Amino acid sequence: MFRSLHIKLMLIMLLLITSLMAVVGTFLTTSVSSFYIDSFYQQMDNMFGSEPSSDGTAAAKNPEFMTALTGEANASDAAARMQDVLEANTGSLGIDYSTRNYYILDGTTGECLASSDDTGGRPPEDTPNLLSARNGSVGDRSDLTADYMDVAIPIKGTAGSYIIYILDDKSTVSDLNGELFTIIMQALVIGLLISVLFSYLLSKTMVIPIERLTEGAERVAAGDFGNKLAVESPDEIGILTGTFNHMADVLQDSLNAVENERNKLDTLFLHMTDGVVAFDHDGALIHCNPAATDMLQRTVSNECTYEELFGEVYPLAQILALQRPNYADSEMRVGQKTLEIYLAPFSDQARGGVLIVLHDVTEQHRNEERRKEFVANVSHELRTPLTNVRSYAETLRDSCGDIPPDMANSFLDIIINETDRMAHIVQDLLTLSRLDAGNTEMNFTRFDFGEAITSVVRANALEARRRGQELTLDPAELPSVMGDRPRLEQVMMNVLGNAIKYTPDGGHIRVSSGSAGDHVWAEVTDDGIGIPEKDQEHIFDRFYRVDKARSRESGGTGLGLSIAKEIVERHHGSIRLIRREGPGTTIRLTLPIRQGQP
Ligand code: ADP
Repeated sequence: MFRSLHIKLMLIMLLLITSLMAVVGTFLTTSVSSFYIDSFYQQMDNMFGSEPSSDGTAAAKNPEFMTALTGEANASDAAARMQDVLEANTGSLGIDYSTRNYYILDGTTGECLASSDDTGGRPPEDTPNLLSARNGSVGDRSDLTADYMDVAIPIKGTAGSYIIYILDDKSTVSDLNGELFTIIMQALVIGLLISVLFSYLLSKTMVIPIERLTEGAERVAAGDFGNKLAVESPDEIGILTGTFNHMADVLQDSLNAVENERNKLDTLFLHMTDGVVAFDHDGALIHCNPAATDMLQRTVSNECTYEELFGEVYPLAQILALQRPNYADSEMRVGQKTLEIYLAPFSDQARGGVLIVLHDVTEQHRNEERRKEFVANVSHELRTPLTNVRSYAETLRDSCGDIPPDMANSFLDIIINETDRMAHIVQDLLTLSRLDAGNTEMNFTRFDFGEAITSVVRANALEARRRGQELTLDPAELPSVMGDRPRLEQVMMNVLGNAIKYTPDGGHIRVSSGSAGDHVWAEVTDDGIGIPEKDQEHIFDRFYRVDKARSRESGGTGLGLSIAKEIVERHHGSIRLIRREGPGTTIRLTLPIRQGQP
């Protein structure tokens, strides 16, 4: 009830009533005083005053009275006689013997000769009007500031001069004003009571709806849009309540839209492969998605700052100074990864921030490197045989038949061999590029894996025998597998071919196989030259050869194992080098038993 608006209303009412009463009171008392004074002087003027007559001289307004007075002034007992005249006119003069009295004074000495004041009171001696009368002129000037009213009329007689002095002590006005003051104070008290009542009623019609609105606004601020405020009146407060309800609806819609957008962005940031990190104007972390945490290879907590994470790339102030849509970009290395980073301010406002997008380009860079290396390798691999072909062909052309036919034939054999080599390389490259592009049709059938191994071993047996190598196949019961048999045989041919190639004459090669769980395996072990440890992880790379001269000599291209790897991976299997004690090499091929066509 005593909320500030209520008190303000009450104070305004009290102030209004008090000031109204003060104005009315002042106006009334002033009016009463001036009315009383005016009527006194009017009364005196009617009795003692004169007015211009038709012949231009001054004529008394009350000639009978004035003639009687001046007539009596000539008598020897002038004072008593004049008193009789005055006594006869006390009604017209308003003499009441208490507040207003008359005095007959000696015109020369000012001595009081007679008066209506029974208490023996004497008139003041030196009022301006008295002084005027003693100088012979009528004293009837009014002085509003004085606490009395008076007129002094000089009367000349033959025996002497006299002054008729009428004095009113204004106590009637004071009493009247006192009465008025009491009435005004009573009215003020009643007015104040009424104002308290009014302010209470006003609070009912104004403050309570405002309080309801305040509660509603607090609910909305707390996010509760459920309860609408009832519009109870069609006045301004009713309109305000309706507008408030509408505003709450609009706000709720906007909040929902913002929430939706935020959810969308959250989902986007959560699942996108690029990293997104946001910092506020002071460099404090606002957001970091899982991809960014992953790329930065560290825990990004809320305490992390821009300075800590990207301070070395660009100073924060420099990014904030950018005008949208400008941005800065750079590259940074985190561990083994290369990250491309884009930095942009996300608001033109003074208190914006910085949004950073991280893009992992490690694989891209690696692929680029591989591509360059691959092109260099291909060029190199083709240039060597081409140079050979060209130089032998030039020699044959320039010899003009000087070269013996046997030598010429051997030159031609070299040319044919180099051409075959190039054709071989080109064929392998074609196979690889088809596998890369996914254009190679795999013809999946269920076949006997053991039988496929046996047929590959059998195909290589002659070559092994020719080189005096011991090629053994461990018998094993193998389930049938799903796959492209000719291509898997091509893989095994390559592995077994390598074992024969890189094992000296008289060496040992063992082919073993088996099954475990849901997969089958085949292993080719030799006791040949083996592969140095530093080269082991590269033998499945394109064009990688441990000993280039030996590989080329034996017709190798350095592509066989990379093609094998591609084919096996298309079967969801694996091919890898097994590290074993002792000399030689072991390559193991593993394939799933139950796989459908990919
Ligand atoms: P290549 O056509 O040169 O044989 P591969 O891709 O088949 O190409 O083999 C890659 C390289 O791996 C070979 O050049 C060779 O140096 C090495 N390598 C493969 N198999 C063996 C093995 N059984 N013994 C020793 N080295 C081998």
